[in-house]
Amino acid sequence: MPLRFYNTLTQQVQPFVPVEPNVVRMYTCGPTVYDYAHIGNFRTFVFYDLLRRVLRLNGLKLDHVMNITDVDDKIIRNAVAQGKSLADYTNLYTQAFLDDCATLRLERPERLARATEHIPEMATAIRKLEESGHTYRSDGSVYFRISTFPGYGKLSHNDFEGMVAGARVDVDSYDKTDARDFALWKAPKPGEPSWDTEIGSGRPGWHIECSVMAIEFLGATLDIHAGGVDLIFPHHENEIAQAEALTGKPFANYWLHSEFLLVDGQKMSKSLGNFYTLRDLCGELGHAPEAIRYLLASAPYRKSLNFTMDSLRSAATAIDRLRNFKLRLESAKFDDGRNTKIVDAGEEAVRTFYHALNDDLNTAEALAAIFEFVRETNIAMDEGQFFSGNREGALNVLRDFDSFFDVLKPTAPAGGLPDAEIDRLVAERTAAKKARDFARSDRIRAELLEQGVILEDTKDGVRWKRK
Ligand code: AMP
Ligand code: ZN
Repeated sequence: MPLRFYNTLTQQVQPFVPVEPNVVRMYTCGPTVYDYAHIGNFRTFVFYDLLRRVLRLNGLKLDHVMNITDVDDKIIRNAVAQGKSLADYTNLYTQAFLDDCATLRLERPERLARATEHIPEMATAIRKLEESGHTYRSDGSVYFRISTFPGYGKLSHNDFEGMVAGARVDVDSYDKTDARDFALWKAPKPGEPSWDTEIGSGRPGWHIECSVMAIEFLGATLDIHAGGVDLIFPHHENEIAQAEALTGKPFANYWLHSEFLLVDGQKMSKSLGNFYTLRDLCGELGHAPEAIRYLLASAPYRKSLNFTMDSLRSAATAIDRLRNFKLRLESAKFDDGRNTKIVDAGEEAVRTFYHALNDDLNTAEALAAIFEFVRETNIAMDEGQFFSGNREGALNVLRDFDSFFDVLKPTAPAGGLPDAEIDRLVAERTAAKKARDFARSDRIRAELLEQGVILEDTKDGVRWKRK
């Protein structure tokens, strides 16, 4: 099936066709680096990673830009409270964010754009908007007059007929039904960082950052613009107004939005206090990053996902099942031959897997296809109906699965033994046993156990896994 996505702009599932064949110009809204990101935020960042992977699976080259918002009200408030410079404060959380992304195996966008490194370009864009009559000034701030942009509301599908002309807002986020003129540029305040630019002194609003950096790196029209559903209004609506008022061209052809991670039916968020960071879950609570990645990836991105510790444990169990299956394929001895039913089942699983991913990233259906194959194949192995000629094909199914889900390789625990060292010790223990040096082989087993590695002696040899 050709790749297709649900487009928030058209409210339809549409075949994906980039402007330039084979290259995807994509912009995703990145983090505001005022604190550690929580796993709700990471649901959206995992979605970006899956989006990248499905595009590449379709042979497309990526030019993906993600912004880092390193100046906003919350950042300024926190930096001032801690007596830190803006840069010192945001560098810490930017690095923490990038480390967390690496822990979750998220591919790096081709470009990361820090807002504070593009302020002159933002000032130039605001000047152009002023010149074309889209703005007005009040007390040193510059506002976008939304009544000058007839398309306002086309993304959120809100009818802003009754909107109060001239009502304006200084904060970056506000209520769904509340269309107001928004700040492009904020007047300097005592004790707050500000920049001297061609339009005067001050700092940019959040929305202008994204429009300007997207156009600067990717051109007037993007193929894909993505974010969490909370960004549809006002952020993305405002991005469209600014960008299209500037260029006169459609800003993005496909708008993709991921649903929330919930806790007891409510959005996981800092303000509700119902959140976990990656560090909370993987540190003291001892969960594996792969389990978090799996959990966040397993629900289709347009469905909200309720987070529970039970669901996280089920994710870990699902990964274990796949790892045990892989180990069995790699280490069991099979009779010569080939069962064509298993060959067919593997091909069918892979076909359904890619079909589901191309169908607006239906990850749940893609997973179901893999687990069905695992179930059938395990039964065939138990019944002696799986042969050495089936091994490679079955391993290939897992390889395809993992090129997208990327959860099979265990994360080495901090300070724990690397895989190669475990393999070496296992081989040494096998040699000791062969030489009937049981004291030594027992010592190695105990040593590995102390490092959290469990050995299993099977008729096909030794398997190991991390606790
Ligand atoms: P922020 O750092 O607050 O700008 O948020 C970064 C991204 O996380 C945005 O794209 C939000 O839409 C997204 N986000 C925030 N909370 C959640 C949640 N509970 N579930 C999914 N995405 C979220
Ligand atoms: Zn944005």
